[in-house]
Amino acid sequence: MTQEPSPLPSLDSLLRAPETAVLLARFGRTATAEALRRVLAARRAARQFHAPSAALIDLAADSLAARFVHSQRPVFNLTGTVLHTNLGRSPLPPEAAAAAAAAMRSATNLEYDLETGRRGERDSHIAPLLCEITGAEAATVVNNNAAAVVLVLNTLAAGKQVPVSRGELIEIGGAFRVPDIMSRAGAILKEVGTTNRTHPRDYEQAIGPDTAALMRVHQANYAITGFTASVPTEVLARIAHAGDLPLIDDLGSGSLIDLATWGLPHETIPQEALAAGADVVTFSGDKLLGGPQAGLIVGRRDLIRRINANPLKRALRLDKGRLAALEVVLRLYLDPDRLTERLPALRLLTRAEADIRATAERMAAVMQRHWPTRPVSVASCRSQIGSGAMPVDLLASVAVTLGGSGLESLAASLRALPRPVIGRIGQDRLWLDCRCLEPAEEAEFLAQLPQTA
Ligand SMILES: *Cc1c(COP(=O)(O)O)cnc(C)c1O
Repeated sequence: MTQEPSPLPSLDSLLRAPETAVLLARFGRTATAEALRRVLAARRAARQFHAPSAALIDLAADSLAARFVHSQRPVFNLTGTVLHTNLGRSPLPPEAAAAAAAAMRSATNLEYDLETGRRGERDSHIAPLLCEITGAEAATVVNNNAAAVVLVLNTLAAGKQVPVSRGELIEIGGAFRVPDIMSRAGAILKEVGTTNRTHPRDYEQAIGPDTAALMRVHQANYAITGFTASVPTEVLARIAHAGDLPLIDDLGSGSLIDLATWGLPHETIPQEALAAGADVVTFSGDKLLGGPQAGLIVGRRDLIRRINANPLKRALRLDKGRLAALEVVLRLYLDPDRLTERLPALRLLTRAEADIRATAERMAAVMQRHWPTRPVSVASCRSQIGSGAMPVDLLASVAVTLGGSGLESLAASLRALPRPVIGRIGQDRLWLDCRCLEPAEEAEFLAQLPQTA
């Protein structure tokens, strides 16, 4: 004998049902009633006039949970690209994240001088630190490095020409193109040299009465090799200064410490650019520096003063949370001996291959036990620094690789986990580079593995 399904209950009776109490407590009356109303409407629209209350409440619970889940969530970045722009670049040290959260939760002395009781300067929390670390006369900070470049060019070169080497007219992901940025900033790009070779005389010949500054741009995410020539910063600075012009140097990645100390490839640091004669140096806060998204500007006092007086500065300024995080990160640089332990970006980039291999082996052993029919192995691979730093230099690393069929759907099911796992597919395997899976997170990673794969 088949049981007759119950007819559609009323919204009121669903709201009074004992199963609904937990939804009311969690999501509130308005949202819960709305979800139940939609479930009922969908049933009526589908002409399904019979359904038990519990099934309808379950559907409402699912839609409520989906509506309140956070869109932006922590993920496991096992792509092998450490400073992955699409995955939020540099992870912050916990104390920096805590300082940001504390600043955002309450009133702070953001622009208030506690000694005098008068209005203070937002930049005062980080400018002295930046000057101490880089040796610059003055410093300021804005929303990101793209904003820093726009602000510097708009201040120093609006309506005037800026010669840039054709080899440096780069596009960085996310629509940062040097020529476009230059024109939006109101400056006129004067291309000099060729893609592969630019000489001092190219700059000298480009300088005229309408020239406002010379500019050097870090080649970021590509490298020109072979028959190449570029003008060293010292020489460029000499040419600029002979014409009474400032030299702007956009470093992009902006490590504050020589990475060669840890066997990583050398990147020009702001200290070196300033010492070579650059007058204004710009770089990112969330690339090699290891801090929050920010654009740092260091250089000559008179130029920084003009930059700060530009009304655009107000539009591009940094909020108190990120300022708090940046201050904590900069202070870590005052104790360079422990930087690789305390700054996650640097810790991940300098992580020993043997240590990564140990993680990969632990993960692979558990995964193989968990998914006996799925081929699981451990393989050497190469990580990238990411964010345009040193595109041709790769770091020796170790991955768990998953073989077998249905790799795309396996990758999708890992992306659907509570803390999504992001790997990459290549050579008929799904690669999970374990460089960014630190021992402290292994338990969380394993606890959420799906039952089948
Ligand atoms: C990354 C980069 C930028 C843009 O910096 P954001 O902080 O992402 O805005 C600009 N110039 C260079 C050379 C870069 O590498």
